[in-house]
Amino acid sequence: MKHNRIFNFNAGPAVLPLPVLEEVQESFLNFKGCGMSITEISHRSKWFDDIINDAVERTKRILNLGDRYEVLFMQGGASMQFALIPMNFLGDGQSADYVNTGTWSTSAIKEAKIQKKTIQVVASSEDKNFSYIPKNIRFTPGAAYVHITSNNTIKGTQWASFPDTSNVPIITDMSSDIMSRPINMENVGLIYAGAQKNIGPAGVCMVIVRKDLLKTVPDSLPTMFKYTTHSTKNSMYNTPPCFAIYVIQLVLKWLEETIGGLNQMEEINNRKAKLLYDFFDSGSFYKGTAEPDSRSRMNVTFRLPSEDLEKKFVAEATSNGFGGLKGHRSVGGCRASIYNATPAEAVPALIDFMKTFEKTNG
Ligand SMILES: *Cc1c(COP(=O)(O)O)cnc(C)c1O
Repeated sequence: MKHNRIFNFNAGPAVLPLPVLEEVQESFLNFKGCGMSITEISHRSKWFDDIINDAVERTKRILNLGDRYEVLFMQGGASMQFALIPMNFLGDGQSADYVNTGTWSTSAIKEAKIQKKTIQVVASSEDKNFSYIPKNIRFTPGAAYVHITSNNTIKGTQWASFPDTSNVPIITDMSSDIMSRPINMENVGLIYAGAQKNIGPAGVCMVIVRKDLLKTVPDSLPTMFKYTTHSTKNSMYNTPPCFAIYVIQLVLKWLEETIGGLNQMEEINNRKAKLLYDFFDSGSFYKGTAEPDSRSRMNVTFRLPSEDLEKKFVAEATSNGFGGLKGHRSVGGCRASIYNATPAEAVPALIDFMKTFEKTNG
């Protein structure tokens, strides 16, 4: 393949669009004729201002956000958001609902509890090893927010659509499926996403927050922990992760101009995922771990008949140019992460390899 690249199925940091990487390489030593690299210029310069503003504008356009939301770039990853959300949006006397659909939801719940905040875990799929997305959930009327993990990177499940929370703002961790499909923003109060899964390199977290929520942020919080600090300063209260934001801007440009936006992206993603799931369903050697109506279009988790075969599979896949197929260390098994940037030809190539492996080991 071009540049000797492999088929990269890593869960995160993960594959990026090749044209984006080529543009980064091309402009790395001399950005737009300024005689310096993007990593060598001030974040207060016009060059960087143009980058961050373009990234914000593209995000608003792609997700059809209008003027109700602010788009922020923050540090500390999605993990920092777990703590900041209750800190900023869950005051004394208030309660928030959490749905537990796996490892990352569990971490979000833990961070609210550490702060002694009042939360209700209103639904959980822990009874079946987080292999499904709970249905018919009764949310608490008047809750400050409902927290859900849109796509469960480790367990391989995804909300088909956001639940009806009757006007309670939804706060959602979209680290591994942001920009993968159009979403209904009607009740969405806040979206956060560590960039390193689907929109960029590690080091930055995208936050999309509804402006009315910002009015409730307590003054008493440390400056860096307040969303309002970042929103009033266009994400530049302190030095932002300039390089990571630059790559995100290029990824968004690729998504808008080369792919054509989220409808097209969703179609491509659905097609890639369907190939794999149909392949699992047509035999019995590879078994998907998620219940069919909860299957993720981004992280396809599966098992082979034994752990020894899984080890052998991952090793042989690696030596055949298919990387990152080992499941998360906490769950074992296998996982093919097929993000926006996974080229269409990667999936049929993987399936061909899987068929051959099954023939010689089944
Ligand atoms: C990877 C991931 C996280 C953790 O992200 P960090 O940026 O490493 O903190 C949180 N939630 C989800 C859904 C993830 O996929």
